[in-house]
Amino acid sequence: MSKKFFLSAPHMSGNELKYIQKVFESNYIAPLGEYVDKFEESLKSYTGAAHALAVLSCTAAIHLALRVLGVREGDDVAASTFTFIGSVNAILYQGANPVFIDSDKESWNLSPKLLNKYLCECEKKPKALIVTHLYGMCADIQKIADICALHGVYLIEDAAESLGAMYNGKHTGTFGDFGIYSFNGNKILTTSGGGMLVSENKEWIDKAKFYATQAREPFVHYEHVELGYNYRMSNVLAAIGVAQMEVIEERVAKKREIFEWYKEFLCDYDEVEFMPELPNSRGNRWLSVMTFAKTDYNIVMKALEEANVESSPLWKPMHMQPLFRDAKRVVDGTSEELFSKGLCVASSTTMTKEDVKMTCDVIKSCL
Ligand SMILES: *Cc1c(COP(=O)(O)O)cnc(C)c1O
Repeated sequence: MSKKFFLSAPHMSGNELKYIQKVFESNYIAPLGEYVDKFEESLKSYTGAAHALAVLSCTAAIHLALRVLGVREGDDVAASTFTFIGSVNAILYQGANPVFIDSDKESWNLSPKLLNKYLCECEKKPKALIVTHLYGMCADIQKIADICALHGVYLIEDAAESLGAMYNGKHTGTFGDFGIYSFNGNKILTTSGGGMLVSENKEWIDKAKFYATQAREPFVHYEHVELGYNYRMSNVLAAIGVAQMEVIEERVAKKREIFEWYKEFLCDYDEVEFMPELPNSRGNRWLSVMTFAKTDYNIVMKALEEANVESSPLWKPMHMQPLFRDAKRVVDGTSEELFSKGLCVASSTTMTKEDVKMTCDVIKSCL
């Protein structure tokens, strides 16, 4: 059986076990301990975020952000439609109503034009916008942030896939009122599962920490006024995170190199189009993504599967999901078209140029 190439397999730095060992030696296996602080510190110093909170998942982090911003039953929350469900589930946790906004062709991410049109015309203003930086590539985030500020809409950046991506030299996740990163199993870095919430606003992060620890009031006994959650990250997982943060720039460089190899090997095929990168931005190319103008992606997927190479269709837009059949939407067909033609291909950072060449030979045989 030949080796399998995954979309984005975990890739350890080598220091993970050493730090886990230290956690065990200190006996701080139980939630919280010095590695949680260290993990938050390293993420802050890397991204430039002012305050950070390590939690169980990115989904939990988004839930906390909505909760702190006061999103509640009956509120509208706008969101990228071209995203993964984890971006938007928390809108339903809060009993709020999602409004899905389509992508533009320049970034494949949320269209500032559609957002602005919607905010100018809507009768009920959404409380917040959740914008995703899809596949690690920057949305037109400065424009989106300006539009949100103009209309008094809170901005939450779902940077789950985009740790290391920058727009105008500033990290994704640091433009919004809140930013969110994921350390789930297949992200560019992983703690096996985990998330991080960041903000410039210390009070908000303190409040999020309060909600994430069962909303316990500051008494000697256990006193509860508000509803809380059990969302904090354990010291063991944070130790993995600290070791992973040490290699983030290496991983971004390798992901970008893998993408360049795909481009190089497929450059003679007009029907192949790659996910664009906005000027003045550096994406992390978490996954290499392409569309086929003529060939059915299912044929390519099947051929890759036979060669032991993992691939996957693009995220099915949220406004097309049965779960959201009644949700409001501002769409123009862009994400539906990308979904109908696109494929994510194996982009694990352990892949060599030979591996990518083999993958491209399989793809070419289908075109
Ligand atoms: C992975 C992902 C999430 C969810 O992250 P978890 O840490 O698994 O909860 C949310 N949004 C996007 C865009 C993702 O890719």
